[in-house]
Amino acid sequence: MNSDKKLTIAIDGHSSCGKSTVAKALAKLLNYKYIDSGAMYRAITLFCIEQNLVSDSIIDEEKLAQSIDKIRIDFRINDSTRQSETFLNNIRVEDKIREIEVSNLVSPVSKIAFVREALVAQQRSLSDGEGTVMDGRDIGTVVFPDADIKIFMTADAETRAKRRYDELIAKGQTVSIQEIRSNINQRDYIDSNRDISPLKQAEDALVLDNSDLSREEQLKWITDIIAERFNWTIS
Ligand code: C5P
Repeated sequence: MNSDKKLTIAIDGHSSCGKSTVAKALAKLLNYKYIDSGAMYRAITLFCIEQNLVSDSIIDEEKLAQSIDKIRIDFRINDSTRQSETFLNNIRVEDKIREIEVSNLVSPVSKIAFVREALVAQQRSLSDGEGTVMDGRDIGTVVFPDADIKIFMTADAETRAKRRYDELIAKGQTVSIQEIRSNINQRDYIDSNRDISPLKQAEDALVLDNSDLSREEQLKWITDIIAERFNWTIS
């Protein structure tokens, strides 16, 4: 790579289309910070579950509002895997936040205005100008509207469900493909139709449909764009 300019790269898109995989690989290649904004919404959701703030899928917003300033979410690098992991109030929650119980509740939690306000502020402060790749739903539209590169990722629904199913089974979770399919559809619907910061393609985002692309091809697709736009050599 031959540039001192440090970029902010926003990767948004539908649920389970591999945003974090490509974002992590890109951050590693460029030696940038990777921030998984979805993990932050998932951590708040886990907090709600653990503190009994959920009853019949209804979130006690009043109680959550009283606690929101006390919720600490941070990312730490695991010394052996070199991967970033999510911590909630100093406890490692990286695996718990990926469980289906959290996935089934995260979109309703993410609709709450004060939750978004708190997390968007934190997401902005996590980017220190040293090069950031952040993935989510509103990164290119709301968190970093001036991002240097904006990608909107998607893939056909069945491919996404199969990928997420394989990933969770490999982690030892007990889920059915139907459950995953319905969770993905439901999250996409709620995320795209909420009043505040809905999931939508930024006008200046480039669309990456990765239904038929390997991980290597997706990474190359993005690095080719960066190389061309900034006249860089990336290897
Ligand atoms: O990226 P991931 O699938 O882990 O995100 C989980 C959920 O968090 C999404 O379905 C969405 O409801 C919420 N989210 C959001 N805004 C973001 C990132 C995630 O609303 N920037």
